[in-house]
Amino acid sequence: MIGRYADLNIYEEIFKSTDFYKVFASALLIPIAMLFSSVGISLNSSLMVGDIILLLSVLINGLPIIMNALKGIAAKQINVDELVSIAIIACVLSANFLEAAIVSAIMVVGTLVEEAVSDSARNAIKELIEITPKTAVVERDGIEVKVKVSKIILGEILLIKAGETISVDGKILHGSTSVDESSITGESIPVFKDTGSRVYAGTQCLDGYIKVEAQRLGRDSTLGKIITMIKSAEQSRIQATRIVDIYAKWFTPVILSVAILTYLITSDVTRAITILIVGCPCSFLLAGPVATVAAIGRAAKSGILVKGGHYLESIATATGFFFDKTGTITEGQPVVVDVIPHPGFNDKEIIGFAAAVEAGSLHPFAQAIISKAKELDCDIPNADNLFSEAGKGVSGNVGSKKIQIITSARYGDSGNTTVCVSIDGDEAGYISLRDKPRATARQTIQAIRNLGISDIAIVSGDQEKPVKKVADGIDVSTWYSCQKPGDKLNIIESYSRGGLVYVGDGVNDAPALKASATGVAMGFNGSDVALETADVVLMNDRLDLLPFLITLSRKMSKIIKTSIFLSFAINAFAVAAGSAGLLTPIMGAVTHNMGSILVVALSASIRFTPDSIS
Ligand code: ADP
Ligand code: MG
Repeated sequence: MIGRYADLNIYEEIFKSTDFYKVFASALLIPIAMLFSSVGISLNSSLMVGDIILLLSVLINGLPIIMNALKGIAAKQINVDELVSIAIIACVLSANFLEAAIVSAIMVVGTLVEEAVSDSARNAIKELIEITPKTAVVERDGIEVKVKVSKIILGEILLIKAGETISVDGKILHGSTSVDESSITGESIPVFKDTGSRVYAGTQCLDGYIKVEAQRLGRDSTLGKIITMIKSAEQSRIQATRIVDIYAKWFTPVILSVAILTYLITSDVTRAITILIVGCPCSFLLAGPVATVAAIGRAAKSGILVKGGHYLESIATATGFFFDKTGTITEGQPVVVDVIPHPGFNDKEIIGFAAAVEAGSLHPFAQAIISKAKELDCDIPNADNLFSEAGKGVSGNVGSKKIQIITSARYGDSGNTTVCVSIDGDEAGYISLRDKPRATARQTIQAIRNLGISDIAIVSGDQEKPVKKVADGIDVSTWYSCQKPGDKLNIIESYSRGGLVYVGDGVNDAPALKASATGVAMGFNGSDVALETADVVLMNDRLDLLPFLITLSRKMSKIIKTSIFLSFAINAFAVAAGSAGLLTPIMGAVTHNMGSILVVALSASIRFTPDSIS
């Protein structure tokens, strides 16, 4: 019995544990009433004490159902509570008090069990919310004070000991530690963090002692954003459920008509009552939402943030997977392998000028060039007018000189990427960078292919030779090079076979992420861009989880379809049996609820999907 509570969140609030006691107490009234009836104790000749006790039981369990039906009618929304309500009222009017009491009790117990099962589908999200600590120790005026997490102020210094959970996003000012970041990334191997490293709310400090400057609090923290996104994802309605909603509108009138017709033909009110009880399409309404919540929660547990159930539906039927190269297929941690200065310049000058204008860029190459400058102990001059041309390079002014770093096809034979550094329009030298493909890339592509997805391509802003080298290395025969963000968009938009998934790192490919049916982004580097634009975020950058994501999506879709079919079949069968007089109302209530619980449990079982690929 779900009816108007099909919205999981309302449902959760309505049924608190006290309901269990209430329903068990009122169910207990039933045998007591039967005892009274069997010995025939009555107040007067027509009113039996047993009947009064039964009516009391109906009042406790049945009245709320009837009240909800009335509320629905008042709001001009026909739902499914009406059917059971009419059945209960009909039972009472035809003096079948025992049946009215038992049916009401079974309906409520069924609802509570369904509630418990569907609630278990949400466990992953609950766990996320529960890991944030309630209090933290901060340094105020040189003294350590314990404060509520909600009272922490931006910029304040937190003191975190081994074993404690960090409550803000921030930077380590002092100390070092190993951090378990599995709550955010799903990765259980601890990460070493030193002074200057960033730490995240909800992650656990395993050893050492650190002082952290609070930079993002509460909802603004990465964990806060993840929780908000998962919560809103739960609310999003998937395609399959929308179809169910349309059918649900027809259910009540159809079942009502069948019941009336059966009564008119057979003159048997019990049969009509049974039909009303079994005809209610509760599981039909709940199967989709429960499966979606279970799948989103399961994905979150492995560090995959899915922003809506419909993206999973879309991945389940995708025909193509297109990948960005730098930072997606490759690790996104390039290193400078060669500096080739023109006559009149030396390595240190080239790298120094380059580092000056890279200071404002989020591109993985920027980090590599800046690290190289530090390693060579270069002078990094101050640059202004910084300008980044997406997919091409960066520029800026150092003093009166205009420095440009742009993509270049030179020296590409080795498979390395080369950028040209020019000063006032004249070439001053080249920088070669190498970025390794991820160790799992080749095997991941193969696994995706094995799942029947044949349109696999690399779409990169890099030059032909390095792109070809990476593509060959991971066994992908379709690749596009020299693609600026707008060109990537065109390629995505011209793909017409079916659903397309685009996987990128969020740097220079936000338009492509948006335009594809599902945009999947790497969340570890450039976390913010990715978190905002993509539909799905791989929080731990684990490309090798894509086959799991496909399997999970397909499993979800299949279970939803199976559940809808099963609910429909059980209902149709029970209505037929009811009209043939083969089911009593009580048997009907049992059949109906067993069916619902089975379907809901099937949906909730998605959360046990393993994430290992084989
Ligand atoms: P991909 O599509 O493979 O991820 P991008 O679109 O990010 O590659 O970049 C394409 C090319 O543009 C790079 O190979 C590089 O040559 C150049 N480029 C882009 N941004 C920068 C930058 N900040 N510094 C140097 N080169 C850059
Ligand atoms: Mg990229």
